[in-house]
Amino acid sequence: MTAIRPFALALDRLTSVGLRPTRQRMALARLLFESGDRHLTAEQLYDEAVSAHMPVSLATVYNTLHQFTEAGLLREVVVEAGRSYFDTNTSSHHHFFDQRRGYLIDIPGNVLEGIDLPTPPEGMRITRVDMVIHMQPALSGEEADASGAERADANGAESRRAA
Ligand SMILES: [Zn+2]
Repeated sequence: MTAIRPFALALDRLTSVGLRPTRQRMALARLLFESGDRHLTAEQLYDEAVSAHMPVSLATVYNTLHQFTEAGLLREVVVEAGRSYFDTNTSSHHHFFDQRRGYLIDIPGNVLEGIDLPTPPEGMRITRVDMVIHMQPALSGEEADASGAERADANGAESRRAA
């Protein structure tokens, strides 16, 4: 990471999409874009801002994240109702979601290759497919028996293993 122009990346991102680089946008853009690709909830970004002594409200963080998303700087990944992550990698890719610890991992490669997508209704075309595969730690035999009830409740697309 270069220390020569520490704010350049955040400033470039904002000005490239025509967003005025206000103090708050710059501060949040630096947290978002100056440490590699990240997946963050609004609450996580707010916590980072508070830790960095930025005078910002959670509402401002929400508004700014949505402005950045509309401008194409972020991609919103909805993992379940009311739970969104904001991805600084806006290229087309898919995710694993750890439902216990609450984080996303990029799935490398084109996972849709070889999958037959359903035909959309007549007159419509598919513009985007977002795959989020929910997962949790695989259990060994005894643990799996003990948590059978819990497993039956778990939703998501985890694959079941034959015992
Ligand atoms: Zn991602």
